[in-house]
Amino acid sequence: MSRKTINVKSNSGTYEVVIGSGIFDEEIGRMAQKSKHDSLFLVIDENVHTLHGDRIIAALKKHTTDLHLIRVPQGESSKSISFWEKTVGFLLNNGVRRNTPVFVAGGGVTGDLGGFAAATALRGVPLYHIPTTLLAMVDSSIGGKTGINHEMGKNLIGAFYQPECVIADVEFLKTLPSAEWINGLSEILKYAAIRDKTIFNDAEIFFDENPAAIDNLKLTDLISKCVLIKADIVQQDEFEGGVRAFLNFGHTFAHALERACGYEKVSHGEAVFLGMLAAVKLSNLTGSRLSDNHLQKFCSLYHYRVSKEELSYEELIHNMAADKKKTDRFIRFVLLNEWQHPVLKTVKDKTLVREALTVVLNEL
Ligand code: ADP
Ligand code: ZN
Repeated sequence: MSRKTINVKSNSGTYEVVIGSGIFDEEIGRMAQKSKHDSLFLVIDENVHTLHGDRIIAALKKHTTDLHLIRVPQGESSKSISFWEKTVGFLLNNGVRRNTPVFVAGGGVTGDLGGFAAATALRGVPLYHIPTTLLAMVDSSIGGKTGINHEMGKNLIGAFYQPECVIADVEFLKTLPSAEWINGLSEILKYAAIRDKTIFNDAEIFFDENPAAIDNLKLTDLISKCVLIKADIVQQDEFEGGVRAFLNFGHTFAHALERACGYEKVSHGEAVFLGMLAAVKLSNLTGSRLSDNHLQKFCSLYHYRVSKEELSYEELIHNMAADKKKTDRFIRFVLLNEWQHPVLKTVKDKTLVREALTVVLNEL
């Protein structure tokens, strides 16, 4: 059994992220010993419930006779005010108390929704993240962002709320559809680009025919490297005022593209990969000299469902200017001075942005 533990410091204390294969039952046992509780709550993605519910429920039932469970339908529409209300109602109606542990098992959708329900019920109950997608393991389960969508835009309602612990058992990933592996790969490549070039080599394991067959040790090591970087950045900047912005490398383009595609025809990971290609191009157009494009070799792993003809430069540029992270009227990008040397740059010349976007559209 391989296992890595990474401590993440936050304003509200330090929590552990434990990564490994087959660690789930033992980690639940460790948690149960530390916690004083009668009942336990589980907020679980419906597909994870079908595929791994038996194992998760059995592990929790060893530590309570009073387990309450709610299933979260897959898809972004679960991150709604009405489903948040339903989830908080489920906690309150079943007698959740200030010390009752709430486990949230699933990908980013369930993590954001369940995390926000845990943050808001009784002004906060102990939250345990059980990420089951690669994206959630390397990104969304770390750093305390929780939230739901509003008709005005994505993630506009939420809270920074740190978990008690994050348990990332790579065994759960074995049932992930291949598009979901690639979705997570983009964030992994992002860490390689902004911080650690060795991750580019490590990520070559995704060229294997079947990601589910990737060696657990290699997977654990790779996820741990990513978590370490994210932990380092978020603990320097818990509430997103400074260096945390570097985690948005590729994301200004990505958000514009996702919005243009109505959040349907392109996944977050696909958009982030394309966004990183555009950011590399824009870096070079604004004075950097990035040598050989390390991202290029991963292009063959992405299969887009959207075509160039469905998108317009004007709409994409308009969407970028409307990005909620914008602080002035020019568009601010995370670019690279050098590989692994991110920098925030305001780009005033829209023709350069347009030129960088051609790189994205030519991939489609
Ligand atoms: P993300 O983590 O990419 O933000 P979601 O929460 O939307 O993603 O989950 C993506 C999809 O993967 C959903 O359909 C969800 O039900 C499914 N899913 C989550 N975890 C697993 C798993 N371990 N095996 C198979 N499917 C999973
Ligand atoms: Zn992202």
